[in-house]
Amino acid sequence: MIGGRGIRALYPDETLPDVYLLTPEALRLRGAEAVIFDIDNTLVTPNAPVTEPVARYFQSLHEAGIRTFFVSNNGEERVRPFADALESGFFCHAGKPAGKGYVQALKILGLPKEKVIAVGDQLLTDIWGAGRAGIYSVLVDAVDPAHEQPFVRVKRVLEKPVRAVYRKSLKTVENKGKRNS
Ligand SMILES: [Mg+2]
Repeated sequence: MIGGRGIRALYPDETLPDVYLLTPEALRLRGAEAVIFDIDNTLVTPNAPVTEPVARYFQSLHEAGIRTFFVSNNGEERVRPFADALESGFFCHAGKPAGKGYVQALKILGLPKEKVIAVGDQLLTDIWGAGRAGIYSVLVDAVDPAHEQPFVRVKRVLEKPVRAVYRKSLKTVENKGKRNS
């Protein structure tokens, strides 16, 4: 029995390469006041602690007044320290794709499902569970250990023109040096 929205509950409402694209602005455009996250492979590699980019991302959400919550199939020993470090509520042993964890999350957040977005890396647990609870779902690519530092990637792209200018100025200095010698 699939329940809720039937087979449609298996389809994400949206697909994104990673969670960082869900900026406070992007969330507001979607009418979200809170985000329910999966942990493993959605935010970090399995069993990894909170990373610097994740901590900064959560801080940016909280500063924008967006609340965060975890619904995980993992046990409390995994979920509590992670959630505590990110000042978020949590529901562990959620038994996803059951919708109960998401329904509980809505209750605890005190928000209607229309004001919450759920994010996860797995169709058959995260997306299905969120869909059964009637929550807008976003499927993200599983975290690749090689790309666990997305801000580094973004920084590199931003740095490119700066570096080019910097190299140019170095050349000028070098040339000057030659001319003066
Ligand atoms: Mg996962």
